Amino acid sequence: MIAAALLAALHGSVGEAHVSTEGDLSAWELDWRRRWRGKAGAVVRPGSTDEVAAVVRACAAHGVSIVPQGGNTGLVGGGVPDTSGAQVLLSMQRMNRVRAIDAENLTLTAEAGCVLQQVQEAAAAQALLFPLSLAAEGSCTIGGNLATNAGGTQVLRFGNTRDLCLGLEVVTPQGAIWSGLSGLRKDNTGYDLRGLMIGSEGTLGVITAATLKLYPQPAAVTTALAACATLADALALLGLARSRLGAGLTGFEVMNRFSLELVARHFPALPRPLPGAPWTVLLEQSDTEGETPARTRFEALLEAALGAGTITDAAVAETLAQSKALWHVREAIPLAQAEEGLNIKHDIALPVSAIPGFVERTDAALAARFPGMRLVNFGHLGDGNLHYNVQAPQGADAAAFLREQEHAVNEIVYDRVQACGGSISAEHGVGQLKRDELVQRKSAVALDMMRAIKRALDPLGTMNPGRVL
Ligand code: FAD
Ligand code: ZN
Repeated sequence: MIAAALLAALHGSVGEAHVSTEGDLSAWELDWRRRWRGKAGAVVRPGSTDEVAAVVRACAAHGVSIVPQGGNTGLVGGGVPDTSGAQVLLSMQRMNRVRAIDAENLTLTAEAGCVLQQVQEAAAAQALLFPLSLAAEGSCTIGGNLATNAGGTQVLRFGNTRDLCLGLEVVTPQGAIWSGLSGLRKDNTGYDLRGLMIGSEGTLGVITAATLKLYPQPAAVTTALAACATLADALALLGLARSRLGAGLTGFEVMNRFSLELVARHFPALPRPLPGAPWTVLLEQSDTEGETPARTRFEALLEAALGAGTITDAAVAETLAQSKALWHVREAIPLAQAEEGLNIKHDIALPVSAIPGFVERTDAALAARFPGMRLVNFGHLGDGNLHYNVQAPQGADAAAFLREQEHAVNEIVYDRVQACGGSISAEHGVGQLKRDELVQRKSAVALDMMRAIKRALDPLGTMNPGRVL
């Protein structure tokens, strides 16, 4: 319950039609993984930056905390309210306008509630590319992408969301508006506030708009699958692809056998070009020269890899439709996993060179401790990011496995990640899921600096409390 005076102020800020306090609010209260179900005191849907600022000021005046939310596709429980019924859930979905495109400056300015796919399409309509791409792109928002510094499948070539953002507009925890929507590629006027807000998961303010980097559309995109006997072979293929394709290599995803078996089980209509391979790599090349030279270079790469025994088989997409189908297979893995049941997710980053050894040793340690557990191991191998997920043994109660074994599983996985100089959150963020783990594993000095920033910017602690820190 929130106080009547605050409710009246919220009505005044955004209009009664855009404040919900009763009925089925589960679209905002339950997270995508169905792991965290909260209770919002009110769901508020502002339509402009001024309205966001008014909502934040009203909440600050009443000491009520705010949970910003975009598409609610986050995987770490950062965007759903707690169970108190005392928080305001601030949904950004109505702020969904592309404000401007500057084709000469290669920039696009969009409101935070724009769905990622909408931004990609707006760029494509000008024959330009916004390269951020992830399986949730039909529903995640630019604000959520920025707040989590999302990665996705094109990081290898274009970097993560932080690398794709030039300017921000933010409502501070006090309800002031910081207008930092710059399209500049160079600006060394003091602290990097934009970089600080990106990846802050709603704990330092509300992102209301962003100026994003665009690129020329490639003339040709070619996609292939390659089968590898080992992860070390997949890495050898990565080295070969880098040297032969240079900046043309835009995607390098890896999928273990079990992850593709899950896709086949839950999405039988999708293609299965190289069934049974221990490891399958999805390669993508984007080329500025056109279809024929691109394809020739790509096929030569795969032939060389076959000749060297680095890969055992390959399938090159012949058409755009086939290429899309190959990507669908990759993107269906998290969905297939959700169909299979609750699981223990790890979104880890490692030096690419450490990955084969890490996987071999961690697989063995988990198998010894949890006989029958199933590893869904896939991810963005090209940038050293694995989704190293543990599914309960076949037929076991997945919820009970998660409840009872998550801690022990995490300890095995994260100890090894740390020993390899890796990160426990490559791209999904910290949210609620990894908050305690962060305290265990980040240095005291780093944590002190993070807490000092939080106290300085949000002294009342009303912005998404209990998340990250
Ligand atoms: P939400 O889930 O609504 O929120 C996420 C966090 O951001 C919360 O802490 C929330 O409080 C905060 N937030 C949201 N909007 C704002 C705002 N305007 N201002 C301040 N804070 C805000 N992530 C990747 O990085 N790479 C992937 O490849 C990837 N694949 C995915 C595949 C699937 C099928 C799914 C379901 C998720 C995937 N994700 C991936 C995770 C998720 O999609 C991304 O983190 C996405 O960026 C979240 O966007 P959202 O709008 O849904 O944010
Ligand atoms: Zn990912």
